[in-house]
Amino acid sequence: VMLILVALFGILSTVVGQRMAARAMVPIKSSYLKQQQFVADASHELRTPLAVLKSSIDVLDLEEGDRLSDVSQLVLADMKDEVQSMSKLVADLLTLARSDSGGVDLYLQPFDLVSTAEQIVRLRQSLAQEKGIELALDAPSPLSLTGDQERIKQLLAILLDNALAYTPSGGRVRVAVTAEHTSNGMVRTAVVCVEDTGIGIPLEDQERIFERFYRVEAARTRAVGGTGIGLAIARWIVEAHKGMIEVQSDPGTGSTFTVRLPVRK
Ligand code: ADP
Repeated sequence: VMLILVALFGILSTVVGQRMAARAMVPIKSSYLKQQQFVADASHELRTPLAVLKSSIDVLDLEEGDRLSDVSQLVLADMKDEVQSMSKLVADLLTLARSDSGGVDLYLQPFDLVSTAEQIVRLRQSLAQEKGIELALDAPSPLSLTGDQERIKQLLAILLDNALAYTPSGGRVRVAVTAEHTSNGMVRTAVVCVEDTGIGIPLEDQERIFERFYRVEAARTRAVGGTGIGLAIARWIVEAHKGMIEVQSDPGTGSTFTVRLPVRK
């Protein structure tokens, strides 16, 4: 996936570069907008061939799966994984490109943050078990929040998937949902912490991990397939909800990501 990505961005930047060179007099802002549009269009166009590829692989598996040799079955499984990662990446790129141009609408509605977190945690229990990680949710009482529930789910999933990915077997991951109150007892802020006992993040990288495509020390994280886009999307979702996200981490001890979201009533 990374090779395809690099090639894709090579082509994208060459094409964009040529376009920009050809119109050197175009104001910077306008070429930037065009570049955003280009990334949005390219990601959008890539979705259809990927969907076709995915269903072709599924058909092949269904019709011929039993008759394939062990090696071919492994190849098919790898292809499935790669197409899935690529589809996720393309969807993420599209989200970021659209968010740049303010083209993503949030569907705001009141929902319970605690049951949403419960669902996201429940869906990952078997993965955590497989990896030998203890996964727990700590959320004492329901907490109503006005926000885009699907985006908040995506945010929790990004943080939780990272915690599980960067924590070795035998570790712990804990999600905590709490509320902060004003002096008259009204809920003012919802606070979500995703805490792990994983490999941690060096201080000098802590600011940069929220940048697009930034990954800490390629060698160390290479074993974990990732693209460096997740936290950029997480930050966008939090900021679109007028919240804040921060990380505290000690290499070798673990990391805690804290999200604070205003509770709009
Ligand atoms: P990805 O995980 O796909 O590489 P992200 O944007 O989600 O991309 O994260 C960026 C980088 O931040 C990761 O590559 C990893 O180096 C680091 N990181 C994120 N979450 C954690 C975590 N819980 N523990 C350790 N490192 C992390």
